[in-house]
Amino acid sequence: MTEPAARPVRTVGILGGGQLGRMLALAGARLGLRSVVLCPDADSPAFEVAADHIVAPYEDEDALADLAARVDVVTYEFENVPASTAAFLAARLPVRPGPRSLEVAQDRLVEKTFLAGLGIPTAPFRAVDTSADLEAGLAEVGFPAVLKTRRFGYDGKGQAKISNPDDVPAAFAAMKGAPAILEGWVPFSREISVLTARGLDGALVTFDVPENEHRQHILKFSRVPAGLAAGTEAKARAIGEAVAAALDHVGVVAVELFLVETAEGERLIANEIAPRVHNSGHWTESACLVSQFEAHMRAVAGLPLADPTRHSDVEMENLIGDEARDPTRFLAESGASLHLYGKTEIRQGRKMGHINRIRPRSLRTV
Ligand code: AMP
Repeated sequence: MTEPAARPVRTVGILGGGQLGRMLALAGARLGLRSVVLCPDADSPAFEVAADHIVAPYEDEDALADLAARVDVVTYEFENVPASTAAFLAARLPVRPGPRSLEVAQDRLVEKTFLAGLGIPTAPFRAVDTSADLEAGLAEVGFPAVLKTRRFGYDGKGQAKISNPDDVPAAFAAMKGAPAILEGWVPFSREISVLTARGLDGALVTFDVPENEHRQHILKFSRVPAGLAAGTEAKARAIGEAVAAALDHVGVVAVELFLVETAEGERLIANEIAPRVHNSGHWTESACLVSQFEAHMRAVAGLPLADPTRHSDVEMENLIGDEARDPTRFLAESGASLHLYGKTEIRQGRKMGHINRIRPRSLRTV
């Protein structure tokens, strides 16, 4: 689809008012870009730092028309923007990243098929709509495996591991009738991710590759450098850039990767695409001159991208739930930068903020 004629970007509409929207609005403000955030939740963290906001469901066409009238371009902080919402807006003004990025990232089956089509390795996968599909899929993929809903899964939600035949009925029931995808279990040793920004002109920049450590399926730490074998970092970067280019993506895109140690060396298996800024890139705020948030805002505003060079080694720690109860204790820590999202209510598993801890850059390059 061709974009409606672009006007110079002064104001960016952001769908979604969570911490990612908040950090996008903050980064945009530094470039003189105003943000108008649309989110159904009246208590959205992004509202506090945006020039303006609209409280409305994403399907509310009057609200979307109001947003379209007030901004020059629309972006989003989450991939589950309804297709009808994106289409409604795209008929009125540029939506960046575009519809292809949403379509691919919203459905795990479309996503894995897309990755495989680019020659990027994934876990073996099969579509599962019926229990017969599941039996047939398991006969091919083997045990262990994981069954996931095709849509609306995040942080391990909508997933069931299948270790042996006894697990099959419960795993199928856990999908609650939703279309699913069966994946072979990947015996990974580490998880990494690659964040690439693609400009309106097709220019690509890729940040250094972090290693990501999860606790209870929620990201806890990202560390850079990741200490990858020679060549692995380059392969990860090539995956990020191939995905961004093939999607005709504008903005930041993250690809989550599994690292598997084999007799032949490290192998990368792609797991998931996030067509947006990503939690595993929060360290770029402190360790790069231009963060992932600024890179995204530059791209969607049609501005040139910046050098993504990292000047420091860094560890990002997420503050989850009660860990954020007394955040002032982190303020005295040297080499640490605290970022709180302004969420008033602490809930278990809720991302409340993060800390970036930097050290002088080591000679190790990756
Ligand atoms: P996802 O929602 O696809 O990002 O998966 C959440 C987490 O579940 C991942 O970060 C992995 O730790 C684990 N996981 C997902 N898919 C697989 C797989 N095919 N093999 C092994 N672990 C997986």
